[in-house]
Amino acid sequence: MMPNYKIPFLDLKAAQMELYESLEFAFENVLNSGLYILGNEVQLFENEFAVYCETDHCIGVGNGLEALHLILRAYNIGIGDEVIVPSNTYIATWLAVTYAGATPIPVEPDEHTFNIDPLRIENAITPRTKAIIAVHLYGHPAHMDPINDIGKKYGLKVIEDAAQAHGALYKGRKTGSLGDAAGFSFYPGKNLGAVGDGGAVTTNDVELAEKIRILRNYGSRIKYHNELQGFNSRLDELQAAFLRVKLRHLDEWNARRKIIADQYIGQLANTMLIMPHVVSWTEPVWHLFVVRHPEREKLQEWLNEAGINSMIHYPIPPHLQPAYADLGYRNGSFIIAEQMASSVLSIPIGPHLTQVQASEISNACLNFNIGKQASF
Ligand SMILES: *Cc1c(COP(=O)(O)O)cnc(C)c1O
Repeated sequence: MMPNYKIPFLDLKAAQMELYESLEFAFENVLNSGLYILGNEVQLFENEFAVYCETDHCIGVGNGLEALHLILRAYNIGIGDEVIVPSNTYIATWLAVTYAGATPIPVEPDEHTFNIDPLRIENAITPRTKAIIAVHLYGHPAHMDPINDIGKKYGLKVIEDAAQAHGALYKGRKTGSLGDAAGFSFYPGKNLGAVGDGGAVTTNDVELAEKIRILRNYGSRIKYHNELQGFNSRLDELQAAFLRVKLRHLDEWNARRKIIADQYIGQLANTMLIMPHVVSWTEPVWHLFVVRHPEREKLQEWLNEAGINSMIHYPIPPHLQPAYADLGYRNGSFIIAEQMASSVLSIPIGPHLTQVQASEISNACLNFNIGKQASF
């Protein structure tokens, strides 16, 4: 059983309740349409999300992992190839590379921004390198200009993992439009979340878009004519209908997240918490609010006792997961990722967290620091 927290980490149900009638209407529309796979809703959502992301194309797929996987497949990246990935990301970024048959090559992040450090990328490039996946971790855009420069210099594809960054801006431009192609996830807890699984690829590359449309649908453009050994990874028609409703609220909900983030930044300055760093040329969308603290476990326990549910993103970096034991990395292989894993803590943030709740969370954090000083 999950303990009953006074303040949950993220109130997912509240998001659906706010839009209940519109979602119900969307549901009935699909039921009555008679089209349940790749119908009008998927097509309309693709058009609307491409406009939102400022890209020429959007292709709806099964989930975020599949979005990244299909991009790699469509670029013919596979066995014998290497793809540069952050050492401190959610494991899905790595799994997409593995699914394609290629090898993930970890590069450490900048410890202030949590995002892949462009200055460390060139050292990791070999003759086998085919692509770089930059993750906009926690909703903060990665530093794409130098990454794109490296991509050009070495002839590498630059792929954005935008699963946590719907609507974030880098130098005024939308994430999802900043590289050769981007993968989005609509997992319910993401900033734009479905009522189940979903994902999308955005790109300005018309050939890539066409190939992913084929790959997601059994390698077929015309029914029962199979050009490629494809997959079954389509954005579900019902989820597309729900996503169309929720997309209309994305900017407003991201703005609510920002109000909470600004409040935390104001209330928690001058404490022992290391606060998230906002790069001046970015507008993050605060998918998570991640602080660092040398005594992270004690802080989490303290918040638990106050009825506040915090989480750790992520407790074990991919290179130390049993799933990647075959790559032969050890403790110490990627020190920055390991230090992050042992010190980060995500405190609640979301469009349905109230400012009163956020103050309560801030106060609990402030009291933790006071309690600590008294015990020295
Ligand atoms: C959620 C997430 C994914 C995977 O998305 P799914 O839809 O769950 O497959 C990939 N990368 C990052 C960074 C994520 O946060």
